[in-house]
Amino acid sequence: MLLVITGPSGAGKTTLIRAFLERHPEMKFSVSHTTRPPRPGEVDGLDYHFVSEAEFSRLIKKKAFVEWAIVHGYYYGTSKKEFKKSQSVDLVLDIDVQGARQVKELALKEAVFIFILPPNRESLEKRLLARGDLAAEERQRRLQRAKQEIKNYHLFDYVIINEKVDQALEEIEAIVKAENRRQLRMRKKILAVLASFKAKSQGR
Ligand code: 5GP
Repeated sequence: MLLVITGPSGAGKTTLIRAFLERHPEMKFSVSHTTRPPRPGEVDGLDYHFVSEAEFSRLIKKKAFVEWAIVHGYYYGTSKKEFKKSQSVDLVLDIDVQGARQVKELALKEAVFIFILPPNRESLEKRLLARGDLAAEERQRRLQRAKQEIKNYHLFDYVIINEKVDQALEEIEAIVKAENRRQLRMRKKILAVLASFKAKSQGR
């Protein structure tokens, strides 16, 4: 499964993804490349691959990305190398709307798109303020951007309104659980069941 999680800055996406992956270590986080400088506590190669703009441009030219976008003035992208991991393990992508759109265009059967919404504008404003690291101008920019981004909700298979983290987390888990029971993802197990019947009838 390729779980694409998107939502405006301040909707609580990162917190939710972290908590989800803690509970589901069998799923892996897709580590993006970015030109944004690391925040305190962020680890290169774990949170992001932190690269220079020159390096990012070189990778774009090399067609090394499945998707990339400019978000809040910095480059962000998912490398083909990282994306390939989804062939062997369930991968979680934390990307913006522009990136989700590009992944959607690939029309991959295994991709599941979730959009995280804040309960309303006020709560988003409060959350952005509570972060404490954003200047008033930047907060306004993010609010404006959120207003545009949320118009894209229809591109997503599921929408979660993140009022309470615990509940939103349960909702992501419910989605993943249900998605894992789709015929497409059950195929191996179904075939094993069918094969067991075949073997028995041949023996008779
Ligand atoms: P932040 O700098 O706060 O970690 O992330 C800013 C925004 O960039 C978030 O909306 C996040 O989802 C998005 N983002 C992170 N990695 C990628 C990526 O690889 N591609 C795209 N398109 N967006 C990304």
